[in-house]
Parts: sequence; C-alpha cells; structure tokens
Amino acid sequence: MAAVGCGVTFGVGAVLERHDAANGEVQMDRRSAAAAEAVRTETQRYVDTLLTTAAAAGAQEVLTRSEYAALTEPLKSMKLAGASTIAFVVPAADDRIGEVQSLWRERGAPDLVLDPYGHGDHAFSIYLTSLDGSVLTPGLDLMRGEAPAAALAASRRSGTVAVSDTYQLLVDARKPPEERQNSFVLAAPVYQGEQRRFLGWVLLGVRGQDFMGATLARAGQNLLDLTLHADDPERRELTVASLRAKVEGERDLIRTVVVPVADGTWTLHLGAVRDRLPGATSGLPSAVVGGGLALTTLLTLLVWVLVAGRERAEERVRRATEELLAGEEESRRQAELLLAVLDGISDGVGVVGPDGRFLLHNPAARRILGRHAELMAAGGWKDQFGLYRLDGVTEYPPEELPLTRALNGEGSEQVEMLVRNPAHPEDRVISVSARPIESAAGERGAVAVFHDITDRKHVENELRGFAGVVAHDLKAPLAAIRGYAELIVEALADPDPAAVADALRSAGRVMAGADRMHTLIMELLDYTAARDATMRVEDVGLRELVDDVVTARTDAPDATGCRPDVFVGALPRVRGDRVLLRQVLDNLLGNAIKYTPPGQAPRIDVTARVDGSGAVRVQVADRGIGIPDGEHAAVFDSFHRASNGTAMPGTGLGLAICRRIVERHGGHIEAMPNPGGGTIFVFTVPGVAAERELQDNAHTV
Ligand code: ADP
Repeated sequence: MAAVGCGVTFGVGAVLERHDAANGEVQMDRRSAAAAEAVRTETQRYVDTLLTTAAAAGAQEVLTRSEYAALTEPLKSMKLAGASTIAFVVPAADDRIGEVQSLWRERGAPDLVLDPYGHGDHAFSIYLTSLDGSVLTPGLDLMRGEAPAAALAASRRSGTVAVSDTYQLLVDARKPPEERQNSFVLAAPVYQGEQRRFLGWVLLGVRGQDFMGATLARAGQNLLDLTLHADDPERRELTVASLRAKVEGERDLIRTVVVPVADGTWTLHLGAVRDRLPGATSGLPSAVVGGGLALTTLLTLLVWVLVAGRERAEERVRRATEELLAGEEESRRQAELLLAVLDGISDGVGVVGPDGRFLLHNPAARRILGRHAELMAAGGWKDQFGLYRLDGVTEYPPEELPLTRALNGEGSEQVEMLVRNPAHPEDRVISVSARPIESAAGERGAVAVFHDITDRKHVENELRGFAGVVAHDLKAPLAAIRGYAELIVEALADPDPAAVADALRSAGRVMAGADRMHTLIMELLDYTAARDATMRVEDVGLRELVDDVVTARTDAPDATGCRPDVFVGALPRVRGDRVLLRQVLDNLLGNAIKYTPPGQAPRIDVTARVDGSGAVRVQVADRGIGIPDGEHAAVFDSFHRASNGTAMPGTGLGLAICRRIVERHGGHIEAMPNPGGGTIFVFTVPGVAAERELQDNAHTV
C-alpha cells in the first residue's frame, strides 16, 4: 500500500514537476525578455537624449558656452540615472591645438586650456555640464582613455551614437572598492549646418551601476540576478552593472540575452531560483507529493490499523477457537472417560429424559434389564421390561417404579423387583435406586442405578434355610448330648454296675452326637470354602486324583466286610483346583459307597470322556439304592436329603458342595438313574487339551 501510494505520488509529482519545470523555463524566458527590453528601452532613452542634444548643439551657428549650458540644462531634470557629465568635445590635431583652444576660448570658455595626450589626433572636452553635481575641469584630452577614444572614433565613423567599453573613472579609482563602478560613455557626433560639418561630439558619461541599477532593480524585482556586460572585442567581461537578488538558493534558471545598445551590443546575464520565481512553480508538485504522501501515510495507517485490527481479531478468533477446541477436546475426553467408566462398571446406570426415554445407558444396565438399546431408547421400559414384585406374580405398578417416581421428583433407594422377559426367562432380582436430576436447560430427568442381586438373593435365601437347618441339626445333637450327659451324671452319682453300663452307652451317644456336630461343622466349612475359597487352577491328572480317593475310601472294608469294587476308566488331565476336584470325587465316591444297601459290596465305575467342546465329562456310576424319581435335581440343594436315604448319616450338604465346586470350574453336575440300578453322577470340568490326553489306563481296584 505504502509502496504503491508513494509510487503513484512520486509519479504524479514527477509529471507535475516536469510541467512546472517547463513553466519555469517559460517564466524565465518571459522575465528575461522583459529585463532585456527594460535595459534596451532605458539605454535607448539615453541614446535618444544624446542624439537630441547633439542635434540641438549642431543647430547652433556658434555653440557658445552659455548656449550649451542652456540646451543641456533639461537633462538635469530628466533623471538620467548614472549620467555624470554631458560634455561637448571637439577634435584637434597636434598642429591645431592652439587654434582650437583659441577658437573655443572665444566662444565662451576663456580659461580653456587644452591638455593634449600623446601625439596625433586629440579630442578635448570644451564644455562640461555636470549632471551629478561633480566639479569638472574642461580641456582634457579624451584620447587619454582608451575606451572613450574608441567610442569617439566609432561615433565619428558611423555618424551615430556609439557606446564605449566600460572603464573606471579616475575619480572612482580613489574610492573604496565596493563603491567603485565601471563607467562608459555614449558619444554622438555633432554636425553643423546644411553641410553637416563635423563639429565634435556630445559625450555622455555614465556610471554603469548607477545607470542600470534602478533599471535592473525594476526588471529583476528582486527575483533575478542580472549582470550587464558590455561586449568587448577581446571578449573580456566588462561589467556595466550587476544586481544580485536577495534570494537564497541555487540559480537554476539561467539566461543570456543580447541587448543592442547604440552601435554595439551588451549582454544581459540573468539567473533565478526556480522555486522562488512566481509562476515558475505552481507548488503543485510539492503539494501533490506532500498531499500524496500524507494521503498515502494516512491510507497506509488506515490499512495498517485495519490489518492490525483484523490480525488482532483473527488472533482473538484463533485463540477463542483454540480454547473452544481445547474445551471440546476436554469435554470429549471427559465424556469418553465417563463412558469408559460407565462401560466398565458392573452396576447398571441409566438416565432418562422427561418423556421417559433412556438418554444414556451402559452395557451393565442393558444386561441387567435384559433389553436392547433400541427398546430402552423408545422408552418402553414401564410395561415391556417385565418387572414384577418379589412374589414373582404381581406386575410392578408403573407409577411406583423408581424411575417414574424420580421423574416426579421423588428419589428412592434400593427398591427390589423381579425382571422376567425374553432375555431373562428365569427371574432376575434387581435392586434399583433412582434420583431426579435437572439439566442445565431446566428439564427434569432421572438417573437410576441397577444392581443384579439375584445371586445375593439366592445366597440370602440359602443362608436363611441354612440357618434354619443348622439351628435344627446342631440343636438336635446338642439336646441329645445334654440329655445323655445328665444320664451319665446321674449314673455316676449312683455307681451301680448297670447304671455305669448305661452311662457308658450314654457317653458313646454323646460322642456320636459330638461327631455329628463335628461333621456338620466341617461340611459347613467345606461348603463355605467351596464358594469362597480362592481357586488355584492347574493341570490336574484326574487319574492320580481318583486313585488317591479310591485308595482312601477302600482301604478298610466296611462293617459287613464288603470291599468296594471300583472300576477306573481312562482318565484325562483336566484344568482345575486339585483340592476342590478331589473333594467332588470324594463326595461322589463316598455317597456311592454310603448309599449301597448294607451287606452288598459297592460297585462303582469311574469313567471319563472328552466332549466336542473340549470339556471332560466325568461319570461316577454306582449300583446303590438310587435316588427316588423327581429328586435327582433336588439332591444338589443344600441340606436336601432324599427320602430313601435318611437312614444313613448325612447333612445334605455333600452334593451342594459338589455342585458349587463344579460350577466354579465352569461346568455342571447332574444325577440320573443308572439303568442297571443305582445312580449315575456326571460332571464336566475343563480338559487340558485333546483326546491324546486320554490315557489307556483303565483298571479295577
Ligand atoms: P448326605 O449324603 O449327607 O445326605 P448329600 O448331599 O451327599 O447329603 O446327598 C443328598 C441326598 O442324596 C442323600 O441324603 C441321599 O438321599 C441322596 N444320595 C446321594 N448320593 C446317593 C447315591 N449315590 N445313591 C442314592 N442316593 C444318593
């Protein structure tokens, strides 16, 4: 902008400058011509005056001193600047000097003394009229001065006015240098009578500076330097007058004009400072350049302000954008973090809007409620989620649902209900807490947290039954122990042999009761451990495990002397907790032996095979009393004892422990009737790998 502005400005300035320069030349030409004209006019006035005087002098029959004084008198009032003397001069040869002197003494110059200079022709001043008040002596030989002599000769030769070269008057030579000036003479021949006889000359002495000073001052108007030179045959610079204008600066307009003066020419040198010459410069270029530069500066400033303003605005926008992006990034990060947290937690979290549609729900919420995201978004949860009261029959009234209440501004904590829908055909018990929330826009919504408490409820129920059974099963032997202990005390108080024998029996029963309590307590601990103990999963050789259990169980024959007959098939290696798996096998083998009719040797087959999914199906089959129909599933419940087995000692916890352990291994366990009589128990457990793990290690113990 600045560059273009300056370029245009200086361009226009240059054009105008050129225009002004041309103007200056024209002005200078005009002024030079005017000055030359002034000089010419003024000199012409002197020439004319001289010619008139010469003519008047020639017109006299006898030019006496007084007549000459009379005819030159008007010159005094003509204000011929610089004119010092007007003299009447006559020629005289060497041999006629005395004659001439006598003649003019007679005509009115009685005291005339001619003072010849050198030899030859002479020109003596006869009459002198002072025009500047100076006192002059006539009789001088003008041939003494080179310049006047030349002028006189030229004048006589041409018959008209001649101008001399400049020269310094003797008077002036005595003055201080600054007052000295060059003078010149104008000479006009005087012819007398009809015959025009040459009588002499009229000679006007003029001081150049005084003569032209005023003229030059008028012509120069204090703007031009003017120097008037008389032309010299030898080309010397003979200054007539000069004037320097009181103007500072380089004279860049120079002119030289030739001015005709009488029979010769003078040269007028002019000099001027262009910028100071009125009309020479319009001032426009400077004004244009100045104005242009000012305008350019202003525009540049304006543009700069605009650009700077725009840059500032852009900077602000950029910063705001950055902050916005950073804020957005932060919000996005937080949202992602929140979503990651929500996705990761096991609690279900859902947020519903005022219309009941889910605005947000995490995977746990969908899993717990058993519904797809689409359904949740559609807001159909009130009647489509299959929500029931804990009795499993009464549908949960929509208006009492925690989310409904939260939307109405009422929070609720841990409300339990059942969920039953296609995704959860088996009842799930959930706990719901909900609270009203309000968005920044003032819209009311609700947030709910869902817990699947099915397992906890199950455990609670179990514990409840457990507590009842434990209370019963521990109270019964305790009551027996107490009763028998009292009998022992009574018998010992009366130490008769029969009473002692009774006391010993009672003591035996006390011990049996204590054993039962011990067994129960141990099994309770096992049961708890089966659920809570940390699993140490490793490769377990099923074969060794079974051998170990069988050995322990079959070491001693039972009371009837029957030894169990156990067939152990090919058994693979499995992945599991060695101690817990041993407990499963021990319980199953123990039951197989225990639930075999007395006096009959237990026959047990332990076999295994790897199924299609790589799991190992372990089968324990016996030929015992079997489980009554309809109770094959129930026997796995804790404390459940089948109706036909109550004669045997037991707690009803063994199979419950088995199921818990198998399930912790990711498998399942079931019981089924053995077609050949007795019962078959089958459980699955993860296999180590493949069929090759099956060892051909079948044998009979
Ligand atoms: P307990 O043996 O202490 O009663 P269990 O949980 O081991 O408890 O067994 C539960 C019930 O299942 C037993 O009371 C018994 O009636 C029945 N049962 C278990 N194993 C067998 C079996 N091998 N043959 C017949 N009935 C069995």
